[in-house]
Amino acid sequence: MVKDKKIKRVAILASGGNSPAMNNVVITMIRKCRYYGVEILLVNNGYYGLLNEDFTKPDLSSLSYFYATGNIFIGSSRFPKFKEYEYQQKAVRILKNHKIDCLFVVGGDGSYRGAADLKKLGVRVICFPGTIDNDVASTERTIGFSTALNNIINNIDAVRNCFDSHLGVCLVEVMGRRFPDLAINAGIACQAEEIITVDNILTTKQIIDITKQTWKNKHRSCLIVVTEKIYGRDGLPTLKEVADAVEKATNRISRVCVLGYTQRGGIPTAEDRNLAIAMADYGLDLALNKPNGSYAIGLNNNRITHIEIEKAVNMDAKTINSEILRKFNRYNKI
Ligand code: ADP
Repeated sequence: MVKDKKIKRVAILASGGNSPAMNNVVITMIRKCRYYGVEILLVNNGYYGLLNEDFTKPDLSSLSYFYATGNIFIGSSRFPKFKEYEYQQKAVRILKNHKIDCLFVVGGDGSYRGAADLKKLGVRVICFPGTIDNDVASTERTIGFSTALNNIINNIDAVRNCFDSHLGVCLVEVMGRRFPDLAINAGIACQAEEIITVDNILTTKQIIDITKQTWKNKHRSCLIVVTEKIYGRDGLPTLKEVADAVEKATNRISRVCVLGYTQRGGIPTAEDRNLAIAMADYGLDLALNKPNGSYAIGLNNNRITHIEIEKAVNMDAKTINSEILRKFNRYNKI
């Protein structure tokens, strides 16, 4: 590989919700930049930090600690004002003043849109899909999904132990309303009696009927995985109201368990770390070899890929595999 002479200084930021193994993208970028003699600035706390010129130089001594932690050590943020042209223009001026040849962005769909806007204003950007939801259209797999899925499975297994012991019903709420890959994959892996997603919203009566059916089939517990932000809005009862109605109708202890932020941290899995490292490695090669392009990096058909950032943000949303959901929802009550 021949290094393009034009790339002298780059910057990297993380944006949106943290996802485990974002660190591995940043660490790989730091090490590889050093190897090629490219200066790298770390932007703290996402687009917010960029606008505040909150830049630091890498501290090499901490990298061997952060490669195995689920935080993002340069910080991430949500900064809605970045959608406004005025803020984007300011970011462009800052990047130009600091002579940044390429900005690397690790984040989800929203972060990609921010990067695509910067590209329109003349900034070169390369994006990596760091989000637990697996909902970025230009990649089959996002960085952090594997760790979040494993966190959910470990938690559900523990919850199952309790409800098995007490012959109970548990409604477990997991993240990912827009794209319920976490709920579907975790529900299948844990043999949940039912998986409820935007594609499969059930009434309280239907949930009561399912729990009755599972008791008839001698299940010791009934575990229902539900994606967040479905119940308690749009005229639907809250999950707590559903659980209370189930308890009344079945005479079994019924509870809600919200896994919340336990899903989004923790030691990144080997799969996430290696995906992050492979994507970062590929992304810097692109920056060095294709001097003018702005891209989104992905994993498709088991290969690391790139696509122009404008195309990535204009791709149709991924489709949910409803057939697999229906199939397992049929088996798991037997
Ligand atoms: P994610 O990147 O995980 O999808 P968000 O949707 O919260 O997370 O987006 C992260 C940040 O990206 C936002 O807080 C904002 O700074 C920026 N962003 C999101 N959408 C846009 C947009 N349409 N245009 C410009 N910037 C955006």
